[in-house]
Amino acid sequence: MERSKKLKAGKEPQREIVFDLAVIGCGPSGALAASLAAEAGLSTVILESKKHPRPKICGGFLSTRSIDLLPEDLSLSSLQAGTVYQVSLIKKRNFYYIDNSKKPLGLVIKREKFDQLMAEYACSKGAILREKEALKAINITGENETRAKSYYLLESEKTEGKTLKVRYLMGADGAMGNTALLAGLRKPGEGIKGWGLSQIVKTKPKVADTSTAKFYPLPFLGGMGWSFSGPDWTNHGVGGLFGRNMLLKAKRKLFHNQYDHSTPLFWPLPFLGPLQKPATGNLLLIGDAAGLVDPFSGEGLYNSFKSAILAVQAVIAAEKNGIEASNTYNYLFRKNFREKFAASLCGALLLHTRSIVKPSSLAHQIADLMENKLWFNYNIDLSSIHENN
Ligand SMILES: Cc1cc2nc3c(=O)[nH]c(=O)nc-3n(C[C@H](O)[C@H](O)[C@H](O)COP(=O)(O)OP(=O)(O)OC[C@H]3O[C@@H](n4cnc5c(N)ncnc54)[C@H](O)[C@@H]3O)c2cc1C
Repeated sequence: MERSKKLKAGKEPQREIVFDLAVIGCGPSGALAASLAAEAGLSTVILESKKHPRPKICGGFLSTRSIDLLPEDLSLSSLQAGTVYQVSLIKKRNFYYIDNSKKPLGLVIKREKFDQLMAEYACSKGAILREKEALKAINITGENETRAKSYYLLESEKTEGKTLKVRYLMGADGAMGNTALLAGLRKPGEGIKGWGLSQIVKTKPKVADTSTAKFYPLPFLGGMGWSFSGPDWTNHGVGGLFGRNMLLKAKRKLFHNQYDHSTPLFWPLPFLGPLQKPATGNLLLIGDAAGLVDPFSGEGLYNSFKSAILAVQAVIAAEKNGIEASNTYNYLFRKNFREKFAASLCGALLLHTRSIVKPSSLAHQIADLMENKLWFNYNIDLSSIHENN
């Protein structure tokens, strides 16, 4: 990181608040990382620019493979989610149906509730959550010793006169966050190549089919539409590579008969590739901030959790061995995400193209993805951490 650009000359901090780790952003990736770090004994603070419960644009599908990465004592049952057993692929008037009734494929959640639960979980493990506090600047000190011993001095709207001083920093602030930009790990606009929009429509209790996740292939837009239902709501939307106007048109065409007065909301989908370099010194990027949305499905939660787990492993390894956390994290990130991305992107293009002539195959592949059985998928490899140290 360029130290000189960020330091403000002559401004001596009056008071320092010291933590081992600061996590920027309390979405799913940040909350999971903070909970694991706090549980491992690191004093951990989370800065979140909003206040939970806050709205989040998302389809709200939490796949079984994502759930498998979450801690067992996280109380998902409190979410009143829909449990999905079937995938249905709808193309014009044709339905292709996969029934997995023996094992759930995932849950349909409301993100504001899920993210709040995750934030509360992180606090229950000892992390300190500071809400309505956006990160503004990062300074670095102690560089003339070793980078492993340097500190990050953080400025936010609320740190006037006080400095938040941390040894490790994680950017979990999503696709539009500024940690990556402040750290020089991403240039403005870089890495954001797709868009998604979603809308939640209230339905009468028990009217919607909560057990079926419906997908609508949009091969020419490089994406998909979806309709997922909870006990008294339906989330429908579209995501893809193309511009927002085309996606909006596709959404109107797919869901024209749905009762829906709210304005659909867009959010970037960083699904054209994990960052070249997601970490420097002891500063690590995770989740959407590191460009980890799956190119086949637009699913982001699985890779958010996976990167959070790997980043905490890297910090623990740094603590043990006196090395920089980026040494381990950049290696694990390359092995787990970058080296597998080309296969994943080719697989995604192949399946979306094939869906034009054989839509039923897409339904099978989506169900496989939810259970982490898709042939070209990333596979978490936590054992590789031992090779590296
Ligand atoms: C339309 C759409 C539908 C999707 N559907 C699905 C789906 O069904 N299933 C799925 O698995 N994935 C889905 N995704 C992807 C998923 O939403 C993301 O991958 C996931 O939210 C990433 O989590 P995160 O914690 O990395 O970032 P986020 O969830 O974006 O959280 C980032 C947090 O950082 C905070 N923040 C931002 N800037 C700052 C700052 N400067 N200081 C402090 N805090 C800050 C934000 O307020 C936010 O709380 C979808 C995405 C879109 C756009």
